Amino acid sequence: MSTNDDLAESAITCPIDFEADGKQCDYLRLPHSVTRSAYGWLPSPIVCLKNGEGPTVLLMAGVHGDEFEGQVTLAKLAHTLAPEAIRGRVIILPMANFPAAQASQRVSPIDDANLNRVFPGDARGGLTRQIAHYIERRLMPMVDYVFDLHSGGSSLHYLPTTLLTWSDDAGEREAEIAFADAFGSPFACFFAGGHGGTSSVAAAERQGARGVTVEMGGSGLVSPDALACCERGVRRWLAHVGVTAPLPASPDDPKPRLVHAMTPESFVFARHAGVFEPAVELGAEVVAGQLAARLHDVETPWDAPRDVFFEADGVVICRRAFGRAERGDCLFHLGCPPPPA
Ligand SMILES: [Zn+2]
Repeated sequence: MSTNDDLAESAITCPIDFEADGKQCDYLRLPHSVTRSAYGWLPSPIVCLKNGEGPTVLLMAGVHGDEFEGQVTLAKLAHTLAPEAIRGRVIILPMANFPAAQASQRVSPIDDANLNRVFPGDARGGLTRQIAHYIERRLMPMVDYVFDLHSGGSSLHYLPTTLLTWSDDAGEREAEIAFADAFGSPFACFFAGGHGGTSSVAAAERQGARGVTVEMGGSGLVSPDALACCERGVRRWLAHVGVTAPLPASPDDPKPRLVHAMTPESFVFARHAGVFEPAVELGAEVVAGQLAARLHDVETPWDAPRDVFFEADGVVICRRAFGRAERGDCLFHLGCPPPPA
């Protein structure tokens, strides 16, 4: 486990006083010494709103830099949210892996690292590991809830889905589902989760906070429908945890459809390179053995295309966004029916 000593080693600094009431807008200073700028730092925007006692929420987007609905949601919130409207504290980090977000890339162009695979990070590591270390060791210990907003990025497109981390404890699963219900995405999907402790959700858990993730749209752009779902969901989450005033319940409140992606059969991968011709649309209900896609080798157009089949029953909640696929690329993933209790 980390110690306070290794926190002191962090070269990342932030002028914000997280204990002060009011709204503070500034930058994390990510040290980046290059030929153009020997003592320079990269400016990762951060906003802290505080109003007396209450829970603390860390809102993150841009952990993957090519996922934009969350970044826009948090930019709007940073602009509009007033400290008088909250109780407790909201910390907004809209470009969490700033170099990746600035470059519209999933991973950092500086060190090629994926922020959601390097927690708990390293104060003396590459820049992405330094960012992970700062988030986990400086920010998360102050926090009760971590809401990490993702999307399918450049390569995938998701129907808006709240990701739930599977627990063998039924009470814990119910608590996860309550966050999906509060967010109100069309789908809530259980994953095995954690990525071996390297994800933001795992980091939150280590620091005694609850972490929840959503997947909103993708295709490397901002989908208006997914953005609307994300904005509404984040505001509902803030009310759910008591940071903002409770929202009146309505019979029109969306109720997510609970699905699972816990087995390898939930995912469809390309076994050959080619141009990806999907056989179904997002949201399609499919069965095992059904044609999922054809992969066309256009360099040898006289050869037959390769058929790809679904290996489970479910609903298509995620589809590849690019036209070409290499062997090993994810083409679809399904939300499968929950296993019998
Ligand atoms: Zn992501």
